[in-house]
Amino acid sequence: MDTLTRQRGEGSPEPGAAAPRLDGATARSGITAPEPDGTAGRQVDRIAGVGLLDGRVVDVDIAGGVVVAVTDAGVDTTGGSGPVGPAVIDGRGYMALTAPAEPHAHLDKALSWGATRPPGCDLGAAIDAWRAFAVTVDEDEIHGRALAAARRLVASGTTAVRTHVDLHREGDPLRGVRAMVRVRDELADVLDLQIAVMVRDEDPAERARDAIAAGADLIGGAPHIAPDTAAETHRLIDLAEELGVGVDLHVDEFLDGDHGMLTAFTDRVASWEPGRIRTAGHCCRIGTMDASGQSAAATALSGAGVGVVTLPVTNLYLQGRAECTSTPRGLPPVRALLDGGVTVGAGADNVRDPFNPVGRSDAIETAMLLVIAAHLDMDTAWHLVTDGARDVMGLPPAGPAPGRRADLLLVRASGLDDVIADAPVDRIVLRAGRMVSARASVLVDPFLTQTSTLTQASTHPPDLQEAP
Ligand SMILES: [Zn+2]
Repeated sequence: MDTLTRQRGEGSPEPGAAAPRLDGATARSGITAPEPDGTAGRQVDRIAGVGLLDGRVVDVDIAGGVVVAVTDAGVDTTGGSGPVGPAVIDGRGYMALTAPAEPHAHLDKALSWGATRPPGCDLGAAIDAWRAFAVTVDEDEIHGRALAAARRLVASGTTAVRTHVDLHREGDPLRGVRAMVRVRDELADVLDLQIAVMVRDEDPAERARDAIAAGADLIGGAPHIAPDTAAETHRLIDLAEELGVGVDLHVDEFLDGDHGMLTAFTDRVASWEPGRIRTAGHCCRIGTMDASGQSAAATALSGAGVGVVTLPVTNLYLQGRAECTSTPRGLPPVRALLDGGVTVGAGADNVRDPFNPVGRSDAIETAMLLVIAAHLDMDTAWHLVTDGARDVMGLPPAGPAPGRRADLLLVRASGLDDVIADAPVDRIVLRAGRMVSARASVLVDPFLTQTSTLTQASTHPPDLQEAP
């Protein structure tokens, strides 16, 4: 069972209402969003008998959206008063983990693979396929896919997302931004959603100002696509400074040469006040440097307070396609960056769109890839998709410890190795102390009954049928 609450407000369905029908392209791809029901959004007062990463089995008490106590399971330290409220989750067999955060998504592009079908698999083919599709979509179409993608993230355990969103060439250039603002409003009770607007070199400054005025939080962009990468980097940072917002740029998403972007970026933001968002996504080129170059890059990034986001599933797909021998991985040297004091998070980037045809909208998938492709130990990999991602996003600490926000992922497992290796289906997700999703695998009887016929039977599993 998947459950997901939605904001109760003007124009928003009550929990239990059917999800909006998805656009045709999404429906054809067989993807539906988790359905809300009446149990979602319920306040949780205690999680009883749940395991922690350190092996302890504890009771976790929650009040006001924050973890207020973590005590050995069954040991009453309240003087007989018990939990702070009556809503107790049976956590036996589960582990309580910090809920993941997704620091770099493209919800406006997500789940469009079925409709776009790029003829090639490299970045150029993906861009061409997306641009051809983008002229055909309106705000509602973008909203439908983005909402579905966001719900899939929540159902997997993610309670905070930063999405990038395109400005459009034809028609209303802000329709993607408006769609993301709608998703942010509709999911306000279940998800922290940050919006970075992708400003291209062809976009006049006024369009970027309009996007921030329409609700975008950050200036984004991919200056390496511009003819003069360094100049475009400076222009975007000028815009952010003028508008008083942070930046999240696609930095060095390539493997050859130095386009001067990394130095321009770190030089410009080094003087920014603490706490102002400055994020460098991808940073693939740093992975091609020798050890001294990597160390120098780490020193510059750390000194400038830049948070780096590595995106294994998409960059493993996109990068290195020209190399038939010793194919590069397309990842920054995560271990070297961490050793150099850089704040690092990890995300998925594109999911089932022209830039990446696969992806499960599941941070556990990203953690698994970090173990395999970035050679991280499992604790560090999990840190990058949880605490590291939240740090990059400027979010307060969360997790099963007193004083932290009660954004928690309960997953049926006995250790982090079970979590990352198995990606268990059974998960309960809390955001600020409220349950926003709960699901479990079930056994089924696949045999037809004596009275049924094949023509009466569905040819698809129930969870792949179209939304009602
Ligand atoms: Zn991206």
